[in-house]
Amino acid sequence: MGYKLLEYVVMENKKRILTGDRPTGRLHIGHLLGSINNRVRLQEEYEEFVIVANIQALSDNFDNPGKVRENIEELLCDYYACGLDFNKANVFIQSEVPEIHEIFIYLSNFATVQQIQHNPTIKTEMAQKGINLSTPLGFFFYPIHQTADILCVNADLVPVGKDQVPMVESTRDLARKFNKTYKVNLLHEPDSLVGTEVNVPGIDGAEKMGKSLNNAIYLSDSEEELRKKVFKVYTDPNRIHATDPGKVEGNVAFMYHDLFNSNTEEVEKMKDMYRKGNIKDMEVKEKLFLVMNEKLTPIRERRLEAEKMKGELLARAIESSKKVSNIARGVADSMKEAMLLNFKN
Ligand code: ATP
Ligand code: MG
Repeated sequence: MGYKLLEYVVMENKKRILTGDRPTGRLHIGHLLGSINNRVRLQEEYEEFVIVANIQALSDNFDNPGKVRENIEELLCDYYACGLDFNKANVFIQSEVPEIHEIFIYLSNFATVQQIQHNPTIKTEMAQKGINLSTPLGFFFYPIHQTADILCVNADLVPVGKDQVPMVESTRDLARKFNKTYKVNLLHEPDSLVGTEVNVPGIDGAEKMGKSLNNAIYLSDSEEELRKKVFKVYTDPNRIHATDPGKVEGNVAFMYHDLFNSNTEEVEKMKDMYRKGNIKDMEVKEKLFLVMNEKLTPIRERRLEAEKMKGELLARAIESSKKVSNIARGVADSMKEAMLLNFKN
């Protein structure tokens, strides 16, 4: 009994993490390095909440709900494959926590149209996805909705990829404004935690690998698919012959080596040889395939295991959504009280 009680007290003292992904496709190596590795590492130290952001996914896929629905189970399988423990991390589904929408509407008074338009994440996504001012409002609302995701459990830490850091900044801003306006100390100002200094680039050389950008190496790719993609990776377009001096900066093959190859001595040697025109692109890529395949094989294998448990994983996520909904109800009620919207005694 005493042991159990102690465990409970420790749980309550844990700081909270909120993080997650849009079910818009299978996860890729950018997710793994940008955010998932941190989630797996911290799932015991923190009380962790992982959101499957299916409503946010609709903001640019509203005409294709089947795609979003199908990808929920895919995402859960990817989580399991990467080592997220569904008994430790609370993996939940955004649409099962309606309190998020309520919190969203309260927060929307604290963000201006100008702030959303100037948000660096939004500006980049608008350019990448061809979004303009005739795009449905849902897209422009999503930053505030994402803030509501984070604040619905009053998270302290948000593991995200580099592209999402401005979103966490804006969450801090909205939380601060809410607290100041209503003279309360209610909403936490969360910190972001990035896994890589820069976004993991796409195989095509784009600044960010993205599941909607058709330039990704997926965690579920077979060994053969991985090999094919590695050999297509963008290198130095001006290097025609193996004897031409090549550029290492902006060369995705070397960027991936930096991220996956723990033998830094070997990587530095290859870079030096590449600059001098002493190594073929093919050799750099063959080594890259071997190191990446070594890291991705156990994930691929666990993913096959997960596919047999899809139903179980989904049931678990729905169960966790109830717990999150209770926590979020508490936050929403406190917000209502601060805004003089409570009519209960
Ligand atoms: P979409 O193209 O549909 O927006 P996405 O690949 O950007 O998909 P999200 O679900 O939007 O994936 O992002 C989930 C998390 O993964 C976020 O924290 C994001 O910062 C991170 N992430 C996504 N792509 C990368 C990347 N290339 N490098 C580092 N982190 C990334
Ligand atoms: Mg994205």
